[in-house]
Amino acid sequence: MLQARTANGVRLVRRFQPYLRPQAPLIAGGSLALLGEIAMRLLEPWPLKVLVDYVLVPQVTGLAERPLQLDPPLLIAVAALMVLVVAGSRALLAYLSTVALALAGNRVMIELRADLYRHIQRLSLSYHSKARTGDLINRLTGDIGRLQEVTVTAMLPLTANLLTLVGMLAVMLWMNVQLALLALMVIPIFLLTMNRMGKQIRTVAREERKREGALAASAAETLGAIKVVQALGLEPLLERAFARHNQKSLSEGVRGRRLAAGLERRVDGLVALGTALVLWYGATLVLRGDLLLGDLLVFTAYLKSAFKPMRDLSKYAGRIAKASASGERVLEVLDTTPEIRDLPGAAPAPRLRGEVTFEQVSFAYTPGTPVLHDLCLTIAPGTRVALVGPSGGGKSTLASLLLRFYTPTAGRLLIDGRDVRAYTLASLRRQMAVVLQESVLFATSVRENIAYGAPGASFDEVIAAAKLANAHEFILQLPQGYATILGERGATLSGGQRQRIAIARAAIRRAPIILLDEPTTGLDQANERAVSEALEQLTMGRTTFMIAHDLRTVEHVDLILYLEGGEVRERGTHADLLAADGNYAALYRMQREERLHSTSEEQRYVIVR
Ligand code: ADP
Repeated sequence: MLQARTANGVRLVRRFQPYLRPQAPLIAGGSLALLGEIAMRLLEPWPLKVLVDYVLVPQVTGLAERPLQLDPPLLIAVAALMVLVVAGSRALLAYLSTVALALAGNRVMIELRADLYRHIQRLSLSYHSKARTGDLINRLTGDIGRLQEVTVTAMLPLTANLLTLVGMLAVMLWMNVQLALLALMVIPIFLLTMNRMGKQIRTVAREERKREGALAASAAETLGAIKVVQALGLEPLLERAFARHNQKSLSEGVRGRRLAAGLERRVDGLVALGTALVLWYGATLVLRGDLLLGDLLVFTAYLKSAFKPMRDLSKYAGRIAKASASGERVLEVLDTTPEIRDLPGAAPAPRLRGEVTFEQVSFAYTPGTPVLHDLCLTIAPGTRVALVGPSGGGKSTLASLLLRFYTPTAGRLLIDGRDVRAYTLASLRRQMAVVLQESVLFATSVRENIAYGAPGASFDEVIAAAKLANAHEFILQLPQGYATILGERGATLSGGQRQRIAIARAAIRRAPIILLDEPTTGLDQANERAVSEALEQLTMGRTTFMIAHDLRTVEHVDLILYLEGGEVRERGTHADLLAADGNYAALYRMQREERLHSTSEEQRYVIVR
């Protein structure tokens, strides 16, 4: 397990090395100061030793006949001064090394966090659809934070103390081999204990981190869907679930602390044992005249510091274990390569015309269960295509393939006659605009929200897009017009207004290909009309794919595709499909009857009232 931990540590360090390199000067400077500090620590007991051996009890030490050149009072003064000088330089060097290394550590972590964020954003949708957002955020903030804290508050002192240990051992061996070896005897016992208990501590720490990730994820999910939660009255249920997880994380935390505390106490015992052995044998040696009294003082003083790394190691074991678990969690994400990325030969797409071809495209989210079968389709530039059919038919999947969220399992998807994989992802997506059923607006100004469609767009362009989207008038009515800051998820606007801002955002892209996912669902009639008009403007002359449930919205499109079970079952214009009298026609009639029925219900309701 020690090997495993070391191997793990080595892997972590090697993986994080590129981040360390730019900080090399800082790290080198800090380490130098650290070495200086350690030298001062080694010197600390020496003034006392010199005083004892030469001045205070020279008769005992047998040095009376070999007095030093200096007068005793002067020697005492020098010794006292040395204590001050050593302590002062040690403090200064310790300060410098801590600051330099902490600075380097923080810089590394900030770089790492930025990279992780960049990486997470680029991970494919297939990853995000499985990963839990809260957990990812926890890795981004919690895990990196912990790494940061531990490198600075635990690893640093630990390294310093380990180096001190080595230095002191060297001095001790030089002074008296037997006594030094005696002191060393406890170290193998320590390693064995550490080995056994460290393993348990690590397991618990990893569990704890995982649990914290799950906790954050479940909280994020609940809060993300707070509307549904409140509407369904799910609060008590979710509270209980949260409390359960919370409680478990507490008991794991306590277990971890208990293990660490147990280890610490054992190490205390070992330290006492080592000191007792040295005291016993050392005193015997002094009495026999084989060791100077001052040397014994230095030995015992060193023992206290020399055993400190052992104590620290046990004290920090839990924290280091947690940090290493955190490091693994961060690496796990960093090492996931985005499934969808630019192929080596990919080039930026030129301005596209918008011809879309599906060439025997099949797709499966999970291998073995295809959701699109052998799709063959060519759409001329500027055609408006509606995707209709029962849910689960594959409409959204088709749109996702077009946006290159996923890659076809078989067959090819061509735009303007070239495989989409020949284009870079960014250049391809830049030429597509999307309006979804529930548009996401960001918590910034209306103007920014629209300009997100084409970063760098001028205010005039924003206004033109808003006008096209039928949004200009109502935006001017907002308290600060275009500068109005929207609430999170655009909560301060009505559904129809949000959709029109989303349409403006799509319009400003001037994309040749547009995807609409039921953007008029759930709107009242007045809003629906405004949004439909805006959509009409938006899609004019552009290749458009619209997913639609309400078949009234597709009557005028150029081509309707009726998808069911991952296949295009019927295709043609509204008139064609009605004449063919297939599934589309049946669905259309059914929707009309439902509408008539509900209208008469509403009228009855009005009359009764
Ligand atoms: P539609 O948009 O027509 O309702 P979808 O394209 O969403 O249909 O779904 C087609 C099929 O793919 C369905 O059987 C659905 O369960 C499955 N599916 C959709 N998204 C995923 C996903 N992320 N992972 C696995 N299966 C999925």
